[in-house]
Amino acid sequence: MINLSAQPVQTNSTNIRQKNTQTWQKILSQSVTNPEELLKILGLNTDLLPGAIAGHQQFQVRVPHTYIARIEHGNSEDPLLRQVLPLGVELDNVAGFSTDPLGEQPKNSHRGILHKYNSRLILMPGQLCGINCRFCFRRHFPYEDNKLNKEEWQSAFDYIGNDTSLSEIILSGGDPLSQNDLRLAWIVEELAKIPHLKRLRVHTRMPIVIPQRVTDEMLSWLTGTRLQPIVVVHCNHPNEIDEDVVKAMNNMSSKGVQLLNQSTLLKGVNDSPEVLASLSDKLFSCGVMPYYLHLFDRVQGAAHFEVDEEQARKLIGEMSNLCSGYLVPKLARDNSGTQSKTIVAPLYRNKENQTEETTKLISTSNS
Ligand SMILES: *Cc1c(COP(=O)(O)O)cnc(C)c1O
Ligand code: SF4
Repeated sequence: MINLSAQPVQTNSTNIRQKNTQTWQKILSQSVTNPEELLKILGLNTDLLPGAIAGHQQFQVRVPHTYIARIEHGNSEDPLLRQVLPLGVELDNVAGFSTDPLGEQPKNSHRGILHKYNSRLILMPGQLCGINCRFCFRRHFPYEDNKLNKEEWQSAFDYIGNDTSLSEIILSGGDPLSQNDLRLAWIVEELAKIPHLKRLRVHTRMPIVIPQRVTDEMLSWLTGTRLQPIVVVHCNHPNEIDEDVVKAMNNMSSKGVQLLNQSTLLKGVNDSPEVLASLSDKLFSCGVMPYYLHLFDRVQGAAHFEVDEEQARKLIGEMSNLCSGYLVPKLARDNSGTQSKTIVAPLYRNKENQTEETTKLISTSNS
């Protein structure tokens, strides 16, 4: 049980904490939300503007300066830029792509709760994100319908309290860390009172996008109850990991937070075995275990990011040749209707350079 620094720190560090809090909230509020400004800051060709405006009208541009600083100036193919700059192709209506690819809306009968799998459920405390990712499967999700008032929160806690099969609560969103620490601390304290819960998991892209979000105040509610804390960050490319991100990760793991990463496989961003291997390597160096590599959810407006399944299976097979087994994330598909995410098997190359489906028996029997 992790109970380090459970008590909020008093007096002399109060100023520091307030400063940090202001910092991340200020960074968030100063995010670039105008496509023209984004192109200008990055010295990009104005030819990109009409497409950017068109995509922006469907799903708003939002990118904080802390993230922009990691994008290469003047490079329209930059893998981080591709995740945030809208393109005209987003408006194409592509067959087979939907506005709710995971069929979440019908399951979303209890406000703020997404209970799809056994033993764990998702609670959504917030609507905002630190960044708007163009590939997001929730780009059409009606967040407005999920704002909870105090009574609705109570009924969410009752729902969780009445279901003893639950052992873990996942705070997800939006990005739960876009909410302030006071609110999050209250939620977590209420959850900790429910005896059958053991773990608290936070799904967030914030420590990657605005690493200043990892404050003492945040660590205090995250590690301050009997619930075992897990943070699953969302990092897609090694260039996303800068010095501040490393610091934030080290800060969390030094307080006993189990860190995992999930990525989304995206064409033109991370669809190469070398990039994926380098991402895992960098993550592990700052204490983060690769968890999932998600096959892209077929959301309308993001078809241009799709890597087909066979290609994805080959990529993972080739990645396995480049790095240690524990650095290879599970390739997963989030099917609607199944009882968990579906793990998709890698395709490996044999000595004749042909791909085959068998697992690598030689390497496993060596261990
Ligand atoms: C992904 C997901 C979870 C968590 O699944 P794990 O495999 O435990 O990471 C829980 N609920 C929903 C609805 C999900 O999509
Ligand atoms: S941070 Fe996550 S939820 Fe928010 S836009 Fe990006 S992918 Fe979607």
